[in-house]
Amino acid sequence: MQECPWCHTDLSLRKLILLSDRLSFCEECGKPIRNSRVRDMAAGTLAVILGLGLAVLLSNKVAMLIVLALYPFSKVLLTRPLKVEVEEYLCQRCKRSDVGYRRPRDPICADCLDEQERSAKKG
Ligand SMILES: [Zn+2]
Ligand SMILES: [Zn+2]
Repeated sequence: MQECPWCHTDLSLRKLILLSDRLSFCEECGKPIRNSRVRDMAAGTLAVILGLGLAVLLSNKVAMLIVLALYPFSKVLLTRPLKVEVEEYLCQRCKRSDVGYRRPRDPICADCLDEQERSAKKG
């Protein structure tokens, strides 16, 4: 199985199938990961090639269905989760990378959120 490059937990099948080369987050540790772009394209290509190969043996009508059915398999097989470099994932307010986040998808860090809430309370 493919594991998270940060915490080495096996990623779920759903996560592997959905992991693209865009920024994503590990379900276990919440750290930023993405799929290798080459692997992402290879998975699609492999499904098409295998699908077309099988379609020759069967009939052309089911070719598309085979590609659709094979894609998740080739995706899981070829997905390679990569760490997203910290420079790509900075707090949008303080621009630091070594900060904690309340939720993985928050654009600003927990410190900045605290500060924002304090100043909001003061009015
Ligand atoms: Zn992880
Ligand atoms: Zn911040």
